[in-house]
Amino acid sequence: MEITVIGAGIVGLTTAWYLQRDGHQVTVIDRRTAVGQGASMANGGQLSYRYVAPLADPDILAKIPGWMLRRDAPVRFRPRFDPAQWQWIMRFLQACNGNDKMRSVAALLPLSLYSQRLIHDLVNHDGFEFDYRQNGKLILHRDRKSFEAARRLLEARPELSGQQLSIGRDACLALEPSLSGIADSIAGGIHTASEETGDCYKLCQALEARLRTGPMPVCFRLGEEVSGFEVNDGILGAVMTRSGRIRGDACVLAGGAEVARLLVPLGIRVPVYPLKGYSISLSIDNPDNVPEASVTDYQRKIVYARLGNRLRIAGMADIVGFDDGIPADRVAGLLRETSETFGEGVDLSTVEPWAGLRPATPTGRPVVDRSPIPNLWLNVGHGALGFTLAAGCAGLIADKIGGRQCAVPAADFELARSTPSGWGVFRGRRAACPAPGLSTTDSAA
Ligand SMILES: Cc1cc2nc3c(=O)[nH]c(=O)nc-3n(C[C@H](O)[C@H](O)[C@H](O)COP(=O)(O)OP(=O)(O)OC[C@H]3O[C@@H](n4cnc5c(N)ncnc54)[C@H](O)[C@@H]3O)c2cc1C
Repeated sequence: MEITVIGAGIVGLTTAWYLQRDGHQVTVIDRRTAVGQGASMANGGQLSYRYVAPLADPDILAKIPGWMLRRDAPVRFRPRFDPAQWQWIMRFLQACNGNDKMRSVAALLPLSLYSQRLIHDLVNHDGFEFDYRQNGKLILHRDRKSFEAARRLLEARPELSGQQLSIGRDACLALEPSLSGIADSIAGGIHTASEETGDCYKLCQALEARLRTGPMPVCFRLGEEVSGFEVNDGILGAVMTRSGRIRGDACVLAGGAEVARLLVPLGIRVPVYPLKGYSISLSIDNPDNVPEASVTDYQRKIVYARLGNRLRIAGMADIVGFDDGIPADRVAGLLRETSETFGEGVDLSTVEPWAGLRPATPTGRPVVDRSPIPNLWLNVGHGALGFTLAAGCAGLIADKIGGRQCAVPAADFELARSTPSGWGVFRGRRAACPAPGLSTTDSAA
């Protein structure tokens, strides 16, 4: 088939990769002039397969009032005259319950572990290089109560004992001597040796280079904005850009945070809204003083990852619409935290600030599904886990388009199930899901 993929971020490019391997003739369109310029550019770099808990959590409700009062809170809200913003917030609040949280975790975990298998293939079989490291993840708790809670959660799940370890302050320091500067404020940590990191933007670039080669090279139409769709008798005939119509047998929409607006004229509602986050990247000038593992500062909601000779620091979630500016106070906040924690290891004058819009659904589950228009497919809404989930979701959508059985249960990624179920009783597949790891904290970044 001739398939058009809209979006040249990590989701669109991995989608193109598996579609090309299935023998389809693929065209990738992006309004930006190069690949990976959206949320995929300078994200937290975490391949966080076992930490998939959504932001929507019953505990978060109690924190919201405090966050509203603090300028430096990890979550910031600026109201807009935009019904989409209010609708998303209402659904997000509706998703802040134990049922929806467990349902999302149960659905996401097999998907993320499938994604890990595919990432391993990309690295070991296909030879992709993107500063990929199997360096494990340390969730650092500064607060004794939160550490004890994380520890109790682990003890309640003996199947996790080989995967995730709760370790005290001394063990944290033995694992990561670079934390010695904040030794006094460490209560303990949860260590997961099987987590990984990589540079998402480098993977985007590497994918583009490979997709352009081979017997059926992918056609890239960069710098072209899709303005709409031509639908005849309920079937998609072409996607519309300024330079004309691009015909195809099918289309996969992988347009990140911007997809909801594009679908409105078709009467298709996807609950995707931007959750803005920030990162800074700094040159490492003393490798002994930056962490080997990726480190998540649980209380401050910041992640640190070593990518090549840089340290990437990412976090925060601002509900401020589509504004992609970089406020000085957000950068200053990340810089202050880094200076306090790993200041001896990095050159603070080399700061590269960045902001990106996470394409977030209220439940934290992406939509990987056929749309009501049968040859228009959706691979959208990966939120804080887009780098982690991209390969798995791309594999799923390729399976669906190819009419094959999906490698993992995919029902909870259907558009019809994207609405939170609220406080109704969840009778999902929790028991049936393989349980090699249940998140004890927030997701990637
Ligand atoms: C601060 C921050 C930290 C993060 N950290 C992590 C992490 O550590 N681990 C993790 O797994 N995930 C992380 N994420 C999330 C991850 O980066 C995103 O989920 C992921 O990049 C989304 O990929 P995407 O391809 O869907 O979107 P994008 O990368 O935004 O790509 C979408 C593309 O579609 C194009 N497009 C949109 N509309 C149109 C149109 N009409 N016509 C043509 N082109 C169009 C855009 O130009 C864009 O290039 C983080 C995100 C942020 C912001």
